[in-house]
Amino acid sequence: MLEVNDIQTYYGNIKALKGVSVTISEGEIITLIGANGAGKSTTLMSICGIVPPRSGDVTFMGEAITGMKPNEIVQRGIIQVPEGRRIFPFLTVKENLDMGAFLRNDTEEMKKDLEYVYEMFPILAERRNQPGGTLSGGEQQMLAISRALMAKPRLLLLDEPSLGLAPIIVQRIFEVIRKINTESKVTVFLVEQNANLALKIAHRGYVMETGRIILHDTSANLMQNEEMKKAYLGI
Ligand code: ATP
Repeated sequence: MLEVNDIQTYYGNIKALKGVSVTISEGEIITLIGANGAGKSTTLMSICGIVPPRSGDVTFMGEAITGMKPNEIVQRGIIQVPEGRRIFPFLTVKENLDMGAFLRNDTEEMKKDLEYVYEMFPILAERRNQPGGTLSGGEQQMLAISRALMAKPRLLLLDEPSLGLAPIIVQRIFEVIRKINTESKVTVFLVEQNANLALKIAHRGYVMETGRIILHDTSANLMQNEEMKKAYLGI
């Protein structure tokens, strides 16, 4: 479904990605694990065109998307939930969800998707008329994921959904990610610092250090890997 081939991405003169390659098949949950500053967010932003790579290429469903504008990439079904959630704090919950569906005109399907997210997160239905900024951190993460679902993603990019949330909320968010993958058939690219959690729901994982992929394997193998245990799993 997605092929990231040897991309190099810069911020001015700083080379943040030094040749990153990742492949994702339709239906998979893939996780990208790494410490602060490893280049995980930059990888996501390179895929969705916000920080375009300077070399290498990205192919989605057989089409080269490198160099396309972010809105063109969104139209193809690659939707990102950014780090820190970035909901619209002064818009209501419902208006935030409408913003997710901004590029769609299939009204009947949109209604069904709205019902689906309200069913998945009843708290959002209860608070539909409340400004997004009044929600708790966990509820805002639910809203950010729901807003992305309203865009009808084929590939969902999630940037550290567990960041700053209580363990019980994180558990709920991860259950929902799995559900979105199995029930709604959305392919998921999950960036996480919490390797233990991410590997539990992902089929395969990539490990990143200072702008490079240093390891990739099935989640089961990564959980048994001695290097992984010491550096990322705290075992
Ligand atoms: P985190 O978990 O902290 O988000 P990350 O793995 O997502 O880390 P990136 O945010 O992709 O890492 O950062 C990769 C490198 O690029 C880091 O060295 C970072 O300092 C640098 N970087 C990121 N954003 C910018 C920017 N806007 N300008 C300059 N350098 C940046």
